[in-house]
Order: sequence, then C-alpha cells, then structure tokens
Amino acid sequence: MTRINTDEEDADLTPCSAGEHASEHLKYESRKSELGAGLIIRRSLPLRRRRMIGAWCFLDHFGPMSVEDRRKAMWVGPHPHIGLQTVTWLLEGEVLHRDSIGSNQIIRPGQLNVMTSGQGISHTEETPEEHSEHLHGVQFWVALPEADRNGPARFEHHPQVPHVEIADANATVFFGRGLGVESPAATFSDMVGIDIELGDAAIVLERESDWEYGIVSLTESIEIDGEPLEVGELLYVSPGTGDPRLSGPSGARIIVVGGLPFDEKILLWWNFVARSHDEIVEARRQWEAGERFGEVEGFEGSPLEAPEIGGRLG
Ligand code: MN
Repeated sequence: MTRINTDEEDADLTPCSAGEHASEHLKYESRKSELGAGLIIRRSLPLRRRRMIGAWCFLDHFGPMSVEDRRKAMWVGPHPHIGLQTVTWLLEGEVLHRDSIGSNQIIRPGQLNVMTSGQGISHTEETPEEHSEHLHGVQFWVALPEADRNGPARFEHHPQVPHVEIADANATVFFGRGLGVESPAATFSDMVGIDIELGDAAIVLERESDWEYGIVSLTESIEIDGEPLEVGELLYVSPGTGDPRLSGPSGARIIVVGGLPFDEKILLWWNFVARSHDEIVEARRQWEAGERFGEVEGFEGSPLEAPEIGGRLG
C-alpha cells in the first residue's frame, strides 16, 4: 500500500500490491478544508488523483467537535446545487436542513437525509438551537447520470435504514444496496454507502466484483487486509479484487462507499455537478441573479456568493 501526499496539488499515486491478496489497494490522504463559518472537514473526494468512486464524487467528514457556538459548527447559508444528490449521515449531534422546495428537517444519528437536486435546488444546513454537545458526521455527494440530472428536485428523510450483522459487527446500509439489503432512498446508479461499527472479530466485506470501493475510518485506526488505515486516509479498492478484511478496535466506525465505475465525465465546480463549462457559467449567473434555485426561508444569514470562475473549466 502506498501513502499519498497530503498536499492535494502534489498528490501522486503509485499503485502497489497489498501483500498476499495481490489486490490493487491505493491509499490517499484526505485534505483538510473548511465549511461555512469554520467547521473543519476532512475531504476524501475529490482528490487530484481520485475524482470519483462509483457515482460518489464528494466525501466530507466533519468533527467530532464540541459545539459551543452553533454558528461555528454546521452553519452553511443558502446555496444552490445542480446535477447531484447530497447524502447526510451523522454519528453525533443534529443538523437542520431547509430547502427551496419547503423542506424543514432535523437529522439525528441513525437517520438519513438525501437531497436530489435535479436541475436545481437551494438549501441551508445549520446546527439547530437545541443541540447536543458534539457534532460528528459525513456528507457525500452523488453525481446524477445524464438521464436523471435534469429531473425534479426532491428531498427525503428516512428515520430508519436497514442494518445487517456481520459476525459481531453492525453494518448499516444507509444508501444504495449491499449486504443483501437496500436503503429506501432514491438512487440513480448501482452503488452503496455502508456504516460499519466493528465488534471484536475481524470481518470480511462481501463486495460486488465489478464495483470499486472507498473506505474511511471515522474514529480510530483500523486495518484492511492487514494494512493500517488512519482517520483522514482513504483506501481505494479497485474492481476485480478480493473481499476486503476489516479489523480494528471494537466500536470503530468505518464508512464504505462503492459503486459501478461512473462512465460519464463530470465537471464539478463549487456546488455544481455538470458536463460543460457553459452549463456552469449559466448556473452561476442564475444563482447570482436570483433565478432558477428558488428561496430558502428561515436561515439567519446571507446566501453564499459563488466564487469567480478563474478560467476555462473542464
Ligand atoms: Mn449543500
């Protein structure tokens, strides 16, 4: 296994074999970034050398952090999205989601929020007034395929998603299908998102042979096929390799995302997933002009301003 540089600009990638499994496992270091008013996040996708895993195109891990001032925790003002789904999953704390199609929903650990932007939606995400001491979670983006990316905007909250026991580990299939179960949220390509809480025993994760996977640990160091994976690292598991073996301290929380490699070339800029420079220029113009993305009620703060487009995209 190879460690990839911290600095995204210089991130490089050398494939190597992971011991006896002879599988291609690539390890990348996530980069640190900031969301809203100072929430520090670890971003595992996109990286310079790894843009997507299946249709997953954005993986953010925030916290754990103590929440003293909610405006310094999750506090993201109105902003638009196109061409994607946002998938929110918490380990601790609460996030209040509001959007331009009238949704107003608090999410808590064990529950799932999925927002399908389709051709356009805007939303806010904030730590609610009544909140727990800590905030810890993930937010992922999923690229919508060509056939669905201009569809209607939609928001789903699922208070329950399926659980599967693997030995003494607890696996929750929060998105997509895997381990013989399926999450109730709408998906538009073959993919899965799983949260695993390890028990004492090592487990072998049954995979789809032609899918690719990404694994991150949210709480502590674990081992995959005998190789260490630290918090803040992403392990990429390529199609056609064996079932990965996961071990680590009991209670460790691990996220596994996977899917059929996405065969469309996407362009990700700011909060938009598109296909062309012109589409992004137009979406940006519409946001700045107050068109297309509706309005979100109730957030105590200003809408986010789109950054300048520095040059030709894509
Ligand atoms: Mn958003």
